[in-house]
Amino acid sequence: PERADLEALQHADVAALLPRPDAESDKYRRGVVGVAAGSDTYPGAAVLAVAGALRGGAGAVRYLGADASQDARRQVIQRFPEALLSQGPVRRAGRVQAWAVGSGLGDGAAARALVADVLSADVPVLVDADGLRLMSERDLRGRTAPTVLTPHAGEAAALLGCERERVEGSRLASVRELAERTGATVLLKGSTTLVAAPDAERARPVRANATGTGWLATAGSGDVLAGVIGSLLAAGLAAFDAASVGAYLHGLAGRRAARPATALGVADALPDAWGDVT
Ligand code: AMP
Ligand code: MG
Repeated sequence: PERADLEALQHADVAALLPRPDAESDKYRRGVVGVAAGSDTYPGAAVLAVAGALRGGAGAVRYLGADASQDARRQVIQRFPEALLSQGPVRRAGRVQAWAVGSGLGDGAAARALVADVLSADVPVLVDADGLRLMSERDLRGRTAPTVLTPHAGEAAALLGCERERVEGSRLASVRELAERTGATVLLKGSTTLVAAPDAERARPVRANATGTGWLATAGSGDVLAGVIGSLLAAGLAAFDAASVGAYLHGLAGRRAARPATALGVADALPDAWGDVT
């Protein structure tokens, strides 16, 4: 039979994939997710990515700042006493089973070095937002574990070296091409979000997620998604599953969030989204 080009996750698929703690669980087995996000310019991105990560199902969230950026660190720990704080190079950050890097990192040498450092880790890494601009082809080629990229159309166009309109006009082809070029699982954001598996798994159909709502078109909502997917990666989901389940939950949370929705409101509605599927 010919393979379908697109598939949609069902509630039952998501329920089966969601991590569930049991009697044998401890926080390390449930997974530690590292969040490398935020800067003095964008401290809020750190808070939002950590908020998503805390509600993504991992056992612990570790925060690593962009630079000497004490602002973001302070805000993260003030909002979320649950977060673990790290400083310095990734290899000394302590145990981390997956990273989410990029939200609100800004520009500059320190941010670029942080992205390269995270991508050199031998664990799954999600790259979003500024991280997508700061990463190099070399960083990607050196990867030894799965990579997830989460661009919106503009970021995808920049990666493909084309106009945003071209991506908007051919979203399915664009997400496939990007996955093929980068060797990463690629999640292309939009009113329908598409997830394409990397080249090695190219027999898979692209997953389409339409659980979202226009209320998700609000500043910082993508940072929450990055945290959720990072958390699911740390909990042990395969990259393709983590990305598509993350989009599914994030979309439901967008529907559940108090209106007008804010990014933090979306993170706060994630428990309701979990309740909808489990
Ligand atoms: P970002 O552009 O990084 O802030 O991410 C925005 C998030 O909101 C992504 O998860 C998008 O898929 C989602 N989103 C944005 N606009 C819509 C829309 N009109 N309908 C559904 N989801 C949306
Ligand atoms: Mg974004």
